[in-house]
Order: sequence, then structure tokens, then C-alpha cells
Amino acid sequence: MTTATTRKPSVAIAGPDERTEDHDAGAPGIRVPRLLLGSPIAADIRADLKTDVEAFRVETGRPPGLAVVLCGRDAPSVVYLERILRGCAEVGMVGRFVEIDGEADEPRLTAAIREQNVDPTVDGIIVQMPLPPGIRLRAVIDAIDPAKDIDGIHPLNAGLLRLGYDGFLPATAQAAVEILTRSEIPIAGRTAVVIGRSPVVGMPTAFLLVREDATVTVCHSRTRDLRRHVRGAEIVVAAAGKPGLVTGPMLRRGAVVVDVGINVVGDRLVGDVDFASAAPVVSAITPVPGGVGPLTNAILLSHVLRAARSRLTATGPAPAARPR
Ligand code: NAP
Repeated sequence: MTTATTRKPSVAIAGPDERTEDHDAGAPGIRVPRLLLGSPIAADIRADLKTDVEAFRVETGRPPGLAVVLCGRDAPSVVYLERILRGCAEVGMVGRFVEIDGEADEPRLTAAIREQNVDPTVDGIIVQMPLPPGIRLRAVIDAIDPAKDIDGIHPLNAGLLRLGYDGFLPATAQAAVEILTRSEIPIAGRTAVVIGRSPVVGMPTAFLLVREDATVTVCHSRTRDLRRHVRGAEIVVAAAGKPGLVTGPMLRRGAVVVDVGINVVGDRLVGDVDFASAAPVVSAITPVPGGVGPLTNAILLSHVLRAARSRLTATGPAPAARPR
């Protein structure tokens, strides 16, 4: 099982660790930070998964299955979901799109989800986001069986996280924290700022960082003086979806930056952090693309296998762990 608390020797660090060199925030060209790359960690997870998926198939006579419920052909998210289905195939799982004929409306979408809930070949369900106008998020998340809610959006899984138990964690939040723990970057006792308070990214990341004993501030669009909060943080997680929101001069020297943002600017993908000005200031940073994204996908797949195993024993969504 992959959790945010798993410790593993780092395989994700590229570039020199030059934390000894002192310099002023914003001074250009002085040092190269550690690049926290998601792909090597994701490759490790996928290699382990491949073995475990095969063992599951031999044991049960079927591979774990993922259903991706589509509710409109929003292009960027379909590309993302196709990548996840390709990942399923690579590790030996069965992944499929569930398409709703014609216009998706709330009753038909929730009916399609409920069909997946009772399909014995389906272990995990994700629903394409963002939802089309007129479909309530609450209706969708309530429709998903929490035992198959592999991206942790159901209130039961969100509640387990809040209470300090491991239900299914939102994969992106788990990846944002796990890229730190797997890179052996200390979290306990450090000050962290999470920019963004969405239920699937910002807030669960903040809860996970608290669980790792960081002292956490959550910032959002109504935060006054974002710069002051960021400046005080040893760890900065940017998850706002605003390109260039965080720049080098805002950051504390030696900070560790996890850039969760994915933004299309012209023909490029960029994060929320202005990499060029941040890099000379920070001690470590995740690039975009190549940082949190690849790890998120691998973690999501690991949740499918975990769901499949949990359903074998029919004991609910997941084994509880780490009550606090
Ligand atoms: P979201 O639901 O739109 O939430 C954005 C959050 O950022 C909100 O809490 C918002 O505040 C806050 N925010 C917006 N502008 C801000 C500003 N100027 N200053 C401070 N806070 C600001 O987005 P999301 O789903 O959480 O996703 C966040 C980012 O992560 C997006 O770029 C998304 O593409 C990316 N993402 C990446 C992955 C991955 O695997 N790497 C996965 C999922 C999402 P309010 O609450 O006040 O509105």
C-alpha cells in the first residue's frame, strides 16, 4: 500500500544539493535547487504494482478494474483520463471509459455511477471533472460507493482523513506530500503554507501535512498579503491554478516548493510557481510538468489495487491506520 506516510529512500532527486551556499532571495544564477521529480518515484510504484496486480489476478482469477465515468467531452480532462487508462493497462489492470449517451444530466450520471458500484469487475471509480453545468458535485460524490472511491472525494473518505485515519486519500494531495517524504525532506516541526483550499487538493494536502507534524497555514483567494505568509514558510505547496502566482522574491531562502498547479499558457504547461525566479532561492522544487503529476497517476492506480484487495475481505473502504 502506498500512503503519504511511507518512507522510502529517495530516487527522485536530480541535481546537486547545495543548501550550504548562502544567497539572497531572488539573486539569479547562483545555485541549482534539488529537482523533486515525480517520474522516478512513479516508476517504482508502477513496478511494484505490476507484480502485486499479477499476484491478485492469480489469486482471484481476475485483474483489478477501474471505471472512468465520462460526463462530457471536456478535452483536457479526457486527455488526462486516457493517460490513467493507459497506466492501468501498463500494470495489468483493466480500465474502461463509461460513456453516457447524449447529454449527461444528473440522474443519468448518478445512475451510471451506481451501475459501477454493483459491478463486481469494477474496484475503483473516478468521475470526470469538472462536472458540466447543472450537475451538482454533492449528488455525484454521494452516488459513489466509498469502497470504490479511489480519489477520496466521498464524505466518508474525507472524514476519515480529517480524523487521522487512512480511507482513500485524494491522490493529488497524497502525491504532494509523498514527493517530500520519498525524497526524505523533513516535514515535522516545519512551517508550511498551502495555497488553495479545494476539497480535493488544498485542504487534504493541509491535513496530510498536519499529520506529518508540520505547522500549516492555508491560504486562498481571500487571503490578505499572500506574500507575507509564503515568506514565512519552510515548505510551500502551491495549488491555486494561477500561473506565476508565487515568485522568487516571495519565497524564503532555502524553502522547499511543491508546485501542484497545472496551467496551460500558450502551448506550454506551467505550474503556479514562476520556476525561473524561484529556482535560485529555494533548496528544492517540483518542476511542472514532471513533478507531482506523474506521481498522482501512479498513486491513483495503487488505490485501485488497494480497493480490490479491500473488497476481497469485504470490510469496507480500507484498513484504518494512524489514529491521532
Ligand atoms: P480549484 O478547485 O479551482 O481551487 C483553487 C484554490 O486556489 C481555491 O481554494 C482558491 O481560493 C485558491 N486561489 C485561487 N486564486 C488564488 C490566489 N490568487 N491566491 C491564493 N489562492 C488562490 O482548483 P483545484 O482542483 O484545487 O486545483 C488546483 C491546481 O492543481 C490546478 O492548477 C489544477 O490543475 C492542479 N491539479 C494538479 C493535479 C496534479 O496531479 N498535479 C491534480 C489535480 C489538480 P478560493 O477557495 O477562495 O476560491
